[in-house]
Amino acid sequence: MRRVAAVTVLVALLGFGVLAAVLVPWQPVPESLGPLVLPEAAEVFTAEELAASAAYSWPARWWSWTGLAVSLAVAGVLGFTRLGRALMARLPNPWWLRAWCGVAVVLLAGRLATLPTGVGGWRLRVEHGLSTQTWAGYLRDVAVGFTVNVAITGLAVVVLLAIVRRWRTWWPAIAAGAFAALVLAGSWLLPVLVEPLFHEFTPLAEGELRTEVIALAEAEGVEVGEVLVADASRRTTTLNAWVSGFGSTKRVVLYDTLVEDLPRDEAMLVVAHELAHAAHSDVLVGTTLGALGVAAAVAALGLIAFPVGRGSAGGGAGGAGRDRRPTPTPTPTPAHVPFILALVAFASVVVAPAENGLSRLVELRADVVALEVTGDAEAFERMQRGLALRSLRDPEPPRLSQWWFGSHPTVLERIGLARLYGHAARE
Ligand SMILES: [Zn+2]
Repeated sequence: MRRVAAVTVLVALLGFGVLAAVLVPWQPVPESLGPLVLPEAAEVFTAEELAASAAYSWPARWWSWTGLAVSLAVAGVLGFTRLGRALMARLPNPWWLRAWCGVAVVLLAGRLATLPTGVGGWRLRVEHGLSTQTWAGYLRDVAVGFTVNVAITGLAVVVLLAIVRRWRTWWPAIAAGAFAALVLAGSWLLPVLVEPLFHEFTPLAEGELRTEVIALAEAEGVEVGEVLVADASRRTTTLNAWVSGFGSTKRVVLYDTLVEDLPRDEAMLVVAHELAHAAHSDVLVGTTLGALGVAAAVAALGLIAFPVGRGSAGGGAGGAGRDRRPTPTPTPTPAHVPFILALVAFASVVVAPAENGLSRLVELRADVVALEVTGDAEAFERMQRGLALRSLRDPEPPRLSQWWFGSHPTVLERIGLARLYGHAARE
């Protein structure tokens, strides 16, 4: 079993490396433009604007870091001490029900423990005029998000344990394949199953904007799929847009705040950026890399020594006597659910810098495409400045925070990029 696990991890990582080498834009900014020079924050924003963003972004960061620390502490205590296994022993049989209940209880503990920091962050957004949500709206989102999380995580854990029980030797390879398929299916279904739980979508109305979007899509050589408007103004005053799904579920979504409040030229630059993601199939590429990463992680479970002892035997095959003695290469059972969830929680923080580093490269390329296809560096800079002001985004986040958690380039990097194109156009 360990050899199967080791080979599967190697194959998945190799696949990840080869695909990443070929598909990730390692050099998103054309070298002919020269080096990317960051403008000074004080030159782009006034002192009052910088003070307003600092007054929001520092406490916001504090709430989110504290929330992360609390969630890791809860996951660690339940997963790495006897507490989690004692808890699992009290849950009902059969094994799959026990596993699913275990997932629900562990996630509920984490959710309740991080509720104060979550509420703190939301109150802060309300105070600074970023969120328009009421208590009822906020708690409804928390409840729906939690339910979706329990459903998906529970399904993943039950699939994993079912495969472990069925294929005692080959499970790391089979589970890796199954999880890669689940990640692909999940990303494909996300826009039709999960996103509608949080937003109402309407097709972008016929009119000037729609005509321009379709013309731009043709210029970028994109099959748009659908262009939808989300009713984001029920929750937020900020402006945003995204692409999700692939194949038949591919869509570009614009916040209604963006459609209504942004000058047309700036809105078109946001659209051009999103269409660039669609043109390069960034969702599909990201999902495929994610699927290979998850496959490697699941197979790596086969290399980990699962704690043996009281409680772990109860989860064996139907309580058959032979499963009560510790096996030489212990494999995951329902008793290990808190342990597995803790591994997942810590691993996702550890891989975040790699994930976000790749994301920043892809985002920078989408900016490059938007600038090239519209040729409007001046409006791009105005748009970036406006978006940052409206979200009270910190133009200079702490380096470690940006490296670890920053999924997009900073606003100063994006304005620096616009200026490169502005210079190139003038020369
Ligand atoms: Zn983007």
